[in-house]
Amino acid sequence: MAPSMISQPTTPPIAPFGYTKAGKPRKRPVRNKKEGVCPVKECQRSFKHRPNPKDAIWQHLAYYRSPMCAEPSSSPFRQAHITMHQKMKAESQSKRLSGINIF
Ligand SMILES: [Zn+2]
Repeated sequence: MAPSMISQPTTPPIAPFGYTKAGKPRKRPVRNKKEGVCPVKECQRSFKHRPNPKDAIWQHLAYYRSPMCAEPSSSPFRQAHITMHQKMKAESQSKRLSGINIF
């Protein structure tokens, strides 16, 4: 359906790839909104500015498992990252086994 056929007076001009947080139309499609962002709900730190956001997230998650972490080991925030690291590791392994390269 053509967007012009839909009556949406409150919708600004067509942005085929949606809008940025600043409200500007995107120039390129966003494959995955969560991509480049820490998957921990309480955190969601963005690594989109990094050359390789996925690696940055792995390093970020791994940081919370290391003794270098400034957070106390009892911190729920730290635990959430450790749990997410394990979950992502398990997921990437199971997807690799089924022949699908996730990223
Ligand atoms: Zn995080």
